[in-house]
Amino acid sequence: MPDDAKTWEARAAAHSFYGFTDLPSIRDRGTVVVTHGEGPYVFDTNGRNYLDANSGLWNMVAGFDHKGLAEAAKAQYDRFPGYHAFFGRMSDQTVMLSEKLIEVSPFERGKVFYTNSGSEANDTLVKMLWFLNRAEGNPQRTKILTRKNAYHGVTVVSSSMTGKPYNEVFGLPLPGFLHLTCPHYWREGQAGETEADFTARMARELEDTIAREGADTIAAFVAEPVMGAGGVIPPSEGYFQAIQPILRRHGIPLISDEVICGFGRTGQVWGCDTYGFRPDAIISSKALTAGYFPMGAVILGPTLADRLQNAVEAIEEFPHGFTASGHPVGCAISLKAIEVILNEGLLDNVRALTPRFEAGLARLAENPNIGEWRGRGLMGALEAVKDKDTKTPFDSHLSVSERIANTCTDHGLICRPLGQSIVLCPPFIMTEGQMDEMFEKLETALNQVFAEVA
Ligand code: PMP
Repeated sequence: MPDDAKTWEARAAAHSFYGFTDLPSIRDRGTVVVTHGEGPYVFDTNGRNYLDANSGLWNMVAGFDHKGLAEAAKAQYDRFPGYHAFFGRMSDQTVMLSEKLIEVSPFERGKVFYTNSGSEANDTLVKMLWFLNRAEGNPQRTKILTRKNAYHGVTVVSSSMTGKPYNEVFGLPLPGFLHLTCPHYWREGQAGETEADFTARMARELEDTIAREGADTIAAFVAEPVMGAGGVIPPSEGYFQAIQPILRRHGIPLISDEVICGFGRTGQVWGCDTYGFRPDAIISSKALTAGYFPMGAVILGPTLADRLQNAVEAIEEFPHGFTASGHPVGCAISLKAIEVILNEGLLDNVRALTPRFEAGLARLAENPNIGEWRGRGLMGALEAVKDKDTKTPFDSHLSVSERIANTCTDHGLICRPLGQSIVLCPPFIMTEGQMDEMFEKLETALNQVFAEVA
């Protein structure tokens, strides 16, 4: 290893904490310090390149060197490099982006609130709901329903929404955040249960939960159309069609967390379009700026927008907001990103590549140690199993998915281990040739690791 790279690794380890990093992996392997990118590739301080099959963290959908996005940022920095959205002021870019977001949203009208991240957007949503419920005389309407395995972020509230056991190390979730069963038929379905029966059971569980807790204590049901960081889990057949009427009947808003799915990942602009349901609000981030600026948005449809507006008028203020909410550079980049995704062929490319992506996943799933492939649009996962017939996972101490991901890295491919699955979430600009390269490298890694552990 060249001295220079060693220095970079030592410097990274000495002064920076990592988020969500498997420590044994970096203890053995060191840090990859990345310096720049080209298309879907990133380059490290050793001059090695990696095909990033995870689009960074699902967000760099236009690749790592999109000139138009960089120019939009530069132009706005030159024009007006920063402003807030407090005290009755906001930038022209913010105004234009809100108009655009409502235009491309599934809502005929609505309103937008900006944050710096997806986590803060979920936090903001919950504060909005608590605020408007209190203003409407329902201070007890506070509980939030989500699902096990869901990922909604890392702030105290969005961690509580997240249905992952790892949050126990923080003493979370907070009380009042309830996690229903993950609608993953392959893993959660019982012996002899059809997929339709499974979906009906998910709906019954929701009914029972509402009956037990009391509809008037529940502020919202929040769901990702396809669960992302839970391991790319599309809902069971008919899931949203089964739960939406129950929520409507009880007056419980359905919120679509589209931080990953939004802006094309599933082949439609919104995941809720792909799955044919109509949420009351959308949480957006990531592809919202193609990853070129940290930004999130809460997009309220007409009912919640009106209720919030009335609540704000009652006390004549919504005491919430971030310094960089609606940052003009972020908004200018987002306007450009939306144009690039919707009008310059990125969404078309997602649709064109999806059959090749699915075929590649299906082919690798023929491996006796892959139990299931799943996905939608350009997000997919392969789940490793010790025994395909019984769906028995590998012993967790073997860290099979981490080993596969590390071996991929050795072959110049970045993909992500999630539980016992390997997740692929390529950028929308990927070519067919790059997709073939991705599957070839992954296949090599799978064969290598399964030969070691089988
Ligand atoms: N919601 C979903 C569905 C996500 O996937 C994520 C991030 N992966 C978040 C919320 C949190 O977003 P952020 O990391 O920007 O806070």
